[in-house]
Amino acid sequence: MGRGTSVVCEKCGWEEQFSFGSGFLSFDNPEDFEDIASGKLGELAKRALDGANPELVHLRSELETFSCMGCGELIRGRKITAYIEDDLPITLYDCDKTCPKCGESPLGPGGVLRPADVSGHIERLVKQGCPNCGGELKKYSYFWD
Ligand SMILES: [Zn+2]
Ligand SMILES: [Zn+2]
Repeated sequence: MGRGTSVVCEKCGWEEQFSFGSGFLSFDNPEDFEDIASGKLGELAKRALDGANPELVHLRSELETFSCMGCGELIRGRKITAYIEDDLPITLYDCDKTCPKCGESPLGPGGVLRPADVSGHIERLVKQGCPNCGGELKKYSYFWD
């Protein structure tokens, strides 16, 4: 079961949600296998998966929020942990290739992605008030699966 936090403006309905973790469909999802086999998640993972015994490969996908290495904008994506045969697990990141704010790649040198400080972001939002109308923001926690 995953968890999340949403921030809601009770005045105008503005809302921002952050979901984390794994849900019901996050384990050994065939689409995740395809993403790796096609090289979408990098050559390293593709090579590791190539020729591995499919029965000894397990994938766990989690929702994650990253921070653009260029401008700090929050970018929603996924973290996938690949357990391939007896090797150490490989961690893969999947998110938009361009940042919606600065238009550059959110990745740093060497393809590094930085997990965002979401709780800090939420605290700042609540302190500043609704970006749309300036109203008071309320914070809610939820679970998803
Ligand atoms: Zn950016
Ligand atoms: Zn508002």
